[in-house]
Parts: sequence; C-alpha cells; structure tokens
Amino acid sequence: MLKAGIVGLPNVGKSTLFNALVANAKAEAANFPFCTIEPNVGTVTVPDERLEVLAKVGNSAQIVPTRMEFVDIAGLVKGASKGEGLGNQFLANIRTCNAIAHVVRCFEDENILHVENSIDPVRDIEIINLELALSDLAQVDRRIDRSRKGARAGDADAKLELATLEKVREALDLGKPARSLDLSDEELGAIEFLQLLTLKPTIYAANVSESDLATGNAFVERVRAIAEAEKAEVIIVSAQVESELVELSAEERQDFLESLGVSEGGLKSLIRATYHLLGLRTYFTVGPKEARAWTIHAGMSAPQAAGVIHSDFERAFIRAETVAFDDLVATGSMTAAKEKGLVRSEGKEYIVKEGDVILFRTSA
Ligand code: GDP
Repeated sequence: MLKAGIVGLPNVGKSTLFNALVANAKAEAANFPFCTIEPNVGTVTVPDERLEVLAKVGNSAQIVPTRMEFVDIAGLVKGASKGEGLGNQFLANIRTCNAIAHVVRCFEDENILHVENSIDPVRDIEIINLELALSDLAQVDRRIDRSRKGARAGDADAKLELATLEKVREALDLGKPARSLDLSDEELGAIEFLQLLTLKPTIYAANVSESDLATGNAFVERVRAIAEAEKAEVIIVSAQVESELVELSAEERQDFLESLGVSEGGLKSLIRATYHLLGLRTYFTVGPKEARAWTIHAGMSAPQAAGVIHSDFERAFIRAETVAFDDLVATGSMTAAKEKGLVRSEGKEYIVKEGDVILFRTSA
C-alpha cells in the first residue's frame, strides 16, 4: 500500500494529528477486521461522500471506503542529516514513503515549547527542507562517482544516470528540491532507486488553533507563499480540533464544527489531498451487498483495475461495463443509465477514469 510520511519539527502537532488519524481508523476498524495498526503506521479510510450517494442508488447494505497509510516520522531535528539524534534512521523512514505531509506549526501557545523558541513557519520549513536536501546531496554524491566510471566505460544507462544526478546536484546546491526540476520519465527512472527525499510529492499541513481554522492566519499565508513557489499544496488543519472531535458523538461533532464555522477539522481534506498527491484514483463497484471504493494508480487499464479486486480478475478479464458516477446518479439507476446508452462496454485497452462505476465481466 502506498504511504505518506508525516514530517515536521518536534512539537508542531504531528503526533496529535497522527493519533487523530489512527483513532478515526480504530473507530472504523470494526469494518476492517484484517486491519492491523502499528505504533507509527496508521491505515486510514479515504473519505468519499460519493459512496453514500452510490449506496442509495444501488440499495447497498453497506459502504466500504478505500484506504491508505500514514506514517508518523518523529524526531527530525536540525542536524538530522549529519546523524544528529537518530537522524539518519528517521530520514531512512521517509525514504520508504511515497509522499510527504509536512506539518508546520501555525498556532501560538506559550505553554507549548517551540524547539526554536518562536513561531516562524518559514524558518521551520527551511530547517526541515535543508535536512532533506543535505541527505539527498549525500546520496547523490555517494552515487555520482560510480555512475561517472560507468559513463566513461560507455555504458548508456550510466550516462543517463550521471547526467540526471548532475542536474539534481545543481538544484540541491541552489537550495531547490529535486522535484522542482522538470525531469523526464527516463531521467526519473534512472534515479528512482535512490528514493530521493526532495523528489517526493509534498503537501504542507498548516496546523492552526481552533479559532483560526475557518479563516487561516498570517502564518498560513507565509506557508502558502513557500508552497506556491514549489507548486505544492497547503491544507489548513487543526490537530487540536481533530483530537477533540475523536472524543465526541456525531451530533456533538456537528455542533462543535458549526461553532467554529467549518464543516471539518482539516483531516479529511488532508487525507484526500494526500491520496491525490500519491497519484491514486478511485473507481467504484456497487450492488445490493455493498457500495465500494477501489484504489488504482492514475492511468491503469481496465484489466489492471479488475486485478485490484482479485488478482485472478486481471487474467480472466473479458470486459468492463462502465458508467461515470455523475451519469449514474443523474439517471438514478443502472437500468435507467443503460436505457440512455450511458453504460459503455469497455475492453482491455480502456484506461479507467476517476469515479467510474464498473461491473467487470470475467471468465473467473
Ligand atoms: P509533535 O512533536 O510534532 O508530534 O507534536 P505533538 O503532536 O506531540 O504536539 C505538541 C504539543 O502541542 C502537544 O501538547 C499538543 O497538544 C499541542 N498541540 C498540537 N496541535 C495544537 C494546536 O493546534 N493548538 C495548540 N494550542 N496546541 C497544539
């Protein structure tokens, strides 16, 4: 399963956010008896309000959302890339993640110590990003000599690798993340094995106090400015609010959120945005038993998508009866959608689209 690593300086609210994620997942765990929860890895459901609509159309007995993983990566501090604290170990944990959710402290609270003694999101982001960049630089430098030797010997793969590493090195030297380069698929493929941290898609989670949840604040604007320059997304979240929501009944939640002038605490938006950042897309199946969301990678073909349900289905794929979610909802039923010619019969080459509702025909 693809996973996103939650990073940030100490005391910015990472664990509070992670615990809220996990608490929600635990509350839902009754539906997922196979779901194990490790101390720093949380499997969360991806909120998708389309499922409720779909369950009504399909008269489905239950709703099954799709899931993704978050990893709480504590302990990143200044000097981590030099092995300060358990720095290298934490950085290695991030390497195995597919995307990064960078939590930034945008709340003031004098009772909660800031490791740098003041609230300054720009400085905080720079500290973390510098550690990530230094770690990448060390990786690139370790590798570059070897690829230089290979390139000299005339190895075409080594030449591409070397040229790409040199580009990355130049960007890092200028203080830019590797993801700011427009690398081609070939170039990305040549250095994929290095799992560079600054190449990972990143989202900034601006952690604000409950009073700023609806409006944001000046700190958030500074985070936005950085994110814009990096073409990264910013989600406003309140770890505090989310940790309080966990304790409340559905009705109390509603009242609490209303009193804050918001419809949610930011966690749902964060999960959704991260899911997209990972290049993940959702298609649905619907029937009397369940309305269910399935995760695919953007660009997957119909047989590959069928393989997500059961590996046998990929080989046994015959065709996919497909209707767009909006078309199905507009017509009100599968039968009505069929009558209007909105249900298509797609073959092996079909690339599944976000929100497709599919019935697979297989020989399995
Ligand atoms: P981590 O070190 O980044 O994992 O930070 P924690 O999640 O342990 O949070 C550090 C402290 O800040 C805890 O006492 C939290 O209760 C508190 N905290 C987290 N988020 C907020 C917030 O949005 N507002 C306020 N006032 N306190 C928060």
